[in-house]
Amino acid sequence: MKYFHSSDTSFESPEHQALQVEIVRMLYASNVRSFIVSIIVAATLVYVEIGTIKNNILWGWITIFIIIYSTRHFLSRAYYKQQDRDQYSNTWLKRFRIATTFCGIAWGLAGYYFYQASQDMAQQAFMIFVLVGVSGGAVITYAIDSTTAKLFAGSLYILSLPSLLLSANIYSIPMAAMLALYIIYVSISGESIAKKLHENMLMRITAYKQEEKIKLLAERQKLHIDLTPMGVIEWDSNFKVIAWNSSAEQIFGYSADEVMQMHVSSITPLEEQNKVLELMHGLFQDGTTQNKLNQNLCKNGETIYCEWMYTPLKDKNNMVIGLATLVQDKTTAKKNQDEINYLACYDLLTSLPNRRLLMERMEQALISSKRSKSYGAILFIDLDNFKNLNDLYGHQIGDLLLQEVARRLKTTLREEDTTSRFGGDEFVLILENRGEILTNAIDSTQVVVDKILTEINKVYILEQYQHRTSCSIGVCMFQGKELSINDIFKRADVAMFQAKKAGRNGMQFFNENLQPKIEFDASLASDLQGALFNVELVPYYQAQVNHQHEVIGAELLLRWIHPKHGLISPDKFIPIAEKSNIINVIGLFVLRHACHQIKAWQSEKSTQDLRLSVNISARHFGQDNFVDEVKAALNDANCSPHLLRLELTESLMQKNVDDLAHKMQLLKDIGISLSLDDFGTGYSSLSVLRNFPLDELKIDRSFVINMLNNQSDAAIIEMIIAISNNLGMKVIAEGVETIEQETFLRDAGCLNYQGYRFSRPVPLDEFEQQLKLAQPYEIVLANQY
Ligand code: C2E
Ligand code: CA
Ligand code: CA
Repeated sequence: MKYFHSSDTSFESPEHQALQVEIVRMLYASNVRSFIVSIIVAATLVYVEIGTIKNNILWGWITIFIIIYSTRHFLSRAYYKQQDRDQYSNTWLKRFRIATTFCGIAWGLAGYYFYQASQDMAQQAFMIFVLVGVSGGAVITYAIDSTTAKLFAGSLYILSLPSLLLSANIYSIPMAAMLALYIIYVSISGESIAKKLHENMLMRITAYKQEEKIKLLAERQKLHIDLTPMGVIEWDSNFKVIAWNSSAEQIFGYSADEVMQMHVSSITPLEEQNKVLELMHGLFQDGTTQNKLNQNLCKNGETIYCEWMYTPLKDKNNMVIGLATLVQDKTTAKKNQDEINYLACYDLLTSLPNRRLLMERMEQALISSKRSKSYGAILFIDLDNFKNLNDLYGHQIGDLLLQEVARRLKTTLREEDTTSRFGGDEFVLILENRGEILTNAIDSTQVVVDKILTEINKVYILEQYQHRTSCSIGVCMFQGKELSINDIFKRADVAMFQAKKAGRNGMQFFNENLQPKIEFDASLASDLQGALFNVELVPYYQAQVNHQHEVIGAELLLRWIHPKHGLISPDKFIPIAEKSNIINVIGLFVLRHACHQIKAWQSEKSTQDLRLSVNISARHFGQDNFVDEVKAALNDANCSPHLLRLELTESLMQKNVDDLAHKMQLLKDIGISLSLDDFGTGYSSLSVLRNFPLDELKIDRSFVINMLNNQSDAAIIEMIIAISNNLGMKVIAEGVETIEQETFLRDAGCLNYQGYRFSRPVPLDEFEQQLKLAQPYEIVLANQY
């Protein structure tokens, strides 16, 4: 872009412009001096020449001289008056040169007239002396600008020359020549002086500008350092502060004055000091840069977290003479990170380490056990009958119990042991450093376990409720890394399961006798693949009766007739099947089988109204095409859908209630009926029931077993019956073994039963045999009950 302004534009370098400005200043500055000297010389000249020269010429010259010199004087004043004169230095230079040329002319005129009029040699010599003096003085005075000097001396010489040449004097011509020579010589010398002067001035100007630039840069840097949000701190070789910017003041609370020469340990907590000093020492040695997150102390004693970037400062011999550090306050970020880490590693309800942190600790425990050869113990703790508490008083009370159990476990254990919440009502503990001898290790673990059992058994006050609970503990000892974490956990889990089986409120060490169970489970998993294909899974039937002991239907329960292990209970293989999609294949097989059986029964009058219940695994039910599979099975067998009942479990109700209710409705629309199995054992809230189109609630066996001697179990049963009445659902109790249980249930309002009191699950032919025996069963129409 090109633009114009009124100031002199020159395309020379800034240094040359500055030089010109300086020259103009010096020229105008010399003005007063030359003005005074000129006036004195002129006055002396006039004094000498008075009487010799005609008055009119003398006065004429005096007038011209005064006009010219006054003009230049006023020009000089005008120059000083102008504020932005430096911008117009070119113009002012031109003006000065013109005015000075006129001054030269004034002296030239004097030479011309006064020399001619001189009457003797002395006067002529005086005149020459004046001209030499004036021109010499001018050349020296204006040496800074040789053009001005030349213009002055030139015009002086040219005007006075004719009179020198014209006067008929033998000295006048050599004198003219001498004058010329003198002026030329002085001019040339002046020129070289000017050149030198210019060079010097240029150097000075360049140096000055450089200095200005450096100063500006330094100022900017200081500004930058002061304004940066990072603390900028410099340390000398004794780790004492030598620079401290305003952000550092803000971060640490010390002003720069307070902190000068303060040692780095003043802003470092005691426990971090060695680490920091070591680091700084290292940096002095090897001269590398480093980033570190350090803990620091503020003036007010507050602890903060700062990110430090260390850069060694080196001299020209590459020796580290100090450290420059950039400091950023990361306290908020650190706290946020800590919180995230906490959430990732700790259980919010109990504040105990969660499963993830447990795994980490376990890893460490194995490593340290390997190093120390000392035994460790892992304890699997499961609360007994925790679900009952939840169902009876609600989750809030359940949570209180878990919190209290967590607190008791933690206080029973040593600081270095790990107490974690594994999930639900399960806790896993790691006890370390049990010693190198197994028997001693077991003994000392037993002591801890006994303490835990006693603690857990103590009464709990949960808001307005007094509660007692117990737990089952499985223990697995480990040493070094002989076993994987997975194996150790499996063993502790098996031991815990064993403890539960042995009657709860007890403990069990894992022993090699239990090892086969783990291996057995693993072998079952692989055998299961072929079981269906080999027709090893056999459906058994267990009768369901009403209060008059009339058979109203049956539940289909699988058995695995294993070629090697004989009859295997579904409690063993169904959980294994549920770990993979095998359960879906098994489920479909059961469905198809049930449909064919219903069809088969339909042709017999005595069995045509029997309702058949099948168990549906949550995983299978969740399969996208589950409803289609059911429809296909029904169509295939061409049986009545009204006689098929699906038993769903509570675990299914946990998620996606809308999708679930929709699926259930689709099944209901086909004509199938739905039963909620194991009711009361899960966590689902009772109100959830309203959302589902269920036909029947099935009271779980665990309540039936205990209801006669456990008030809370009895209360749950009464509640389930009340709810089913309320929601218009049927209710059936499973696991009914005794007449007392039957009576209790009947009195409570439950009129349908399943259990060993009536029949065990039996193969189909046996079940049909039982039906034929009419007594004690009597088959009634399913829709009559
Ligand atoms: P479940 O659905 O709760 O079945 C009831 C269980 O209680 C059966 O055990 C049954 O034999 C047992 N039982 C019935 N009356 C009594 C009694 O008076 N006393 C005692 N002590 N037990 C009684 P089972 O047959 O061992 O089945 C265990 C579980 O395996 C079933 O529990 C069910 O969840 C699952 N299961 C069985 N067959 C299948 C199946 O075809 N598919 C699916 N998904 N699960 C099945
Ligand atoms: Ca069932
Ligand atoms: Ca059940």
